[in-house]
Amino acid sequence: MDTIKYLLPENDIPKAWYNLVADLPVPPPPPLHPGTGQPLTPAELEPIFAKELIAQEISTEREIGIPASVRQILAQWRPTPLFRARRLEKALGTPARIYYKYEGTSPSGSHKFNTALPQVYFNKVEGTKRITTETGAGQWGSALSIACSMYGIPCDVFMVRVSFEQKPYRKALMETFGGRCIASPSMGTEAGRAILAADPDCPGSLGIAISEAVEVALKNADTKYCLGSVLNHVLLHQTVIGLECLRQFDLAADYPDIVIGCTGGGSNFAGIAFPFIGESLRNEKKTRIVAVEPRACPSLTKGRYAYDFGDTGKLTPLVKMHTLGSSFIPPAIHTGGLRYHGMAPLVSHVQELGLIESRSVGQTDVFRAGVTFAKAEGILPAPEASHAVSAAIDEAVRCREEGAPKVILFNLCGHGHFDMTAYMKFAAGKLEDYEYPAEEIAMALAGLPTVG
Ligand SMILES: *Cc1c(COP(=O)(O)O)cnc(C)c1O
Repeated sequence: MDTIKYLLPENDIPKAWYNLVADLPVPPPPPLHPGTGQPLTPAELEPIFAKELIAQEISTEREIGIPASVRQILAQWRPTPLFRARRLEKALGTPARIYYKYEGTSPSGSHKFNTALPQVYFNKVEGTKRITTETGAGQWGSALSIACSMYGIPCDVFMVRVSFEQKPYRKALMETFGGRCIASPSMGTEAGRAILAADPDCPGSLGIAISEAVEVALKNADTKYCLGSVLNHVLLHQTVIGLECLRQFDLAADYPDIVIGCTGGGSNFAGIAFPFIGESLRNEKKTRIVAVEPRACPSLTKGRYAYDFGDTGKLTPLVKMHTLGSSFIPPAIHTGGLRYHGMAPLVSHVQELGLIESRSVGQTDVFRAGVTFAKAEGILPAPEASHAVSAAIDEAVRCREEGAPKVILFNLCGHGHFDMTAYMKFAAGKLEDYEYPAEEIAMALAGLPTVG
């Protein structure tokens, strides 16, 4: 009755990414040019992104091949293990069968490396000389720095100030690989200076850090910007997670009734969930898909579905998504990776289509679930991932109460080894449970751009 590991053969990783858009009954609304309000052309994105990534962004092909060079490096730690959490099941006394896919085995400790690699690869092929990006908790900045060092491209990472201060080891990790890590808001960009002029103590946000990184790319012809979440091509790169899961469930001779992922910008959730949604759409499988977000930053559960900017400085295209308003600065919760005002347009769209459910959890419940999981399974989850753990435990407890032996799968998208300050605060009973910041969100939503 111990935890079981389902491993695919070595090097047996997907040859193509899965593009959910090909199977959707209704196409997602297009991104718009903020000036004209017209659908964006690929050429208008070229100052910011590599061409191949733009092509993937708008692709409607079901399968998009993974380049050999990228597959070779992915094979260093993929396929990642799928575990059946027998010890957790026993601890909860549930008849449910709980599975988790563990993405913390990547070089950077989370799923982010799955997209860092191809993004840097396509930039390298197209001759990009420098890459800029933002990072919240530091996982994305770490992943991109490692990928950039593998392909020999310098990389500037704007790190949300509150995380920069909470997590000095993340900065050290990025710098070890040659990345430059800058606390955001910074004095080095117009966007950063404008924010600091209004609020010198601003804790920063992903929205602000994105503005800074995009600004640098726009002002330098040889520099491109990479984003760690939200965009279609990022979600696409993460589908290796769910594609592997499908094959691993064949090995286990089982299939999930419920698939759960945490959502910041939506990429690890999409990575595990989209291949299962595809199965449901094409093969009439019935799997419930659940997105879990922080109560302090509830874009999917409380946000408005509207066109908004991806950043605070209003430099990005307008995308239709569940948003709390691009000027909303989320409370300084200890899950930096989930402090984003919006949600991936594609995740937002599938929620509108009724293909997924969403819910929110408070910070202390999240850490309690994380510790329960760690004690049973021996892996310390990233606080972001603990949102998924929390929902999986709730579902398993419900199975116990209803005597229903359901099959639950969740994405353990990263480990929490850099989050010990937060775990220490939780242990000391000092973690704050922020309430839903209704007034600030109402104010930010009042400032949504008018479209059409
Ligand atoms: C970045 C990150 C997240 C949030 O981003 P998504 O795009 O929603 O996945 C969640 N968990 C971990 C471990 C992360 O690194």
